[in-house]
Amino acid sequence: MSRIPVTVLGATGVVGQRFVRRLANHPSFEIAHLAASERSAGKTYREACDWRLPGEPYAGLGDRVIEPCDPKISFSPLAFSALDNSAAREVEPAFAASGCVVFSNASAFRMEEDVPLLVPELNAEHLALIEVQRRKRGWKGAIVTNPNCTTVVLLGALGPLHRAFGAEAVSVVSMQALSGAGYPGVSSLDALSNVIPYIGGEEEKVETESRKILGKLEGGRVIEAPIAISAQCNRVPVIDGHTEAVSLRLKGAPSPDDALAALESFRPDTAGLSLPTAPERFVRVRREPDRPQPRRDVEEGDGMVLQVGRLRACPLFGLKLIVLGHNTERGAAGASVLNAELALARGWL
Ligand code: NAP
Repeated sequence: MSRIPVTVLGATGVVGQRFVRRLANHPSFEIAHLAASERSAGKTYREACDWRLPGEPYAGLGDRVIEPCDPKISFSPLAFSALDNSAAREVEPAFAASGCVVFSNASAFRMEEDVPLLVPELNAEHLALIEVQRRKRGWKGAIVTNPNCTTVVLLGALGPLHRAFGAEAVSVVSMQALSGAGYPGVSSLDALSNVIPYIGGEEEKVETESRKILGKLEGGRVIEAPIAISAQCNRVPVIDGHTEAVSLRLKGAPSPDDALAALESFRPDTAGLSLPTAPERFVRVRREPDRPQPRRDVEEGDGMVLQVGRLRACPLFGLKLIVLGHNTERGAAGASVLNAELALARGWL
């Protein structure tokens, strides 16, 4: 089968580079266009982008010329978007209207009623919102989004536990990597030896996105899961990997052993589909007392495995645990590519 040509929107950024590396040898998708802002358009990828990933520099595409994010110039039937939010708001609908299915990392459209906000292992059926979106907006293409990087890490634990028992209340305190702020991101004088107890808009995103993803699709809309979620988000001097300390109240007050068994036996919606970017298991349970740790564990499964550790009783909520995930892979580029693989497997592309 020939590969589907794709455009990477925002190819020069932190997430864009990870898209380019992931897509360079993808079995189903082939990079046709690299696009970024007017600042970069006309330059080669090598000139426009400060490549910061290990492996082959520029994934072998250093001589490609960057194009503007304009569907008349850089159109493909499928696009991956790593655009800044404000650019995404303009560019993504223009591509969708011209017939492109855009898999977006930006938050601009995540909470729109007719836009799928996907974690394929948890809510694959929400992809059907594409039909509602096309009907409502008259687009031939579509926008499909993945959650904020902090949301998906929380869902590594909350998703399987909610499915097994039903969640009532969740408190999450995040310790978020610097790469989550893009490049150059937070200045070194602010970041080193420090914790910044504020990330604009992040806490609201974790609270609202989680309820949408865990919601039920009924009559062409998502009925949000009625879970009380309280998030406190902090930036810490870690390069990659968000760590989250989570306390949960689940229906029936399961024991830590019952919760561990539910996490270990979780069957994702993607089981049996053989999606190339899907990790062997959605969540890995760790039993060592001092794991997971971002520096030692975050790259597991190409950064796609979410890891839960320290699951134990909590005197306030019933259960507490630590969960870790890669913010620019599971929380960004890898997540979008997995969404596109699901859409392809389900016949949407
Ligand atoms: P970044 O490093 O700042 O990259 C931003 C990209 O957007 C660059 O390619 C930039 O191109 C392009 N861009 C900016 N303004 C533009 C415009 N007006 N028109 C066209 N292109 C424009 O940011 P990032 O960290 O990769 O994040 C990208 C998106 O993913 C954001 O929406 C972010 O919220 C989301 N996200 C990030 C993470 C993470 O962990 N970093 C996780 C989840 C989601 P130039 O180089 O030409 O300026």
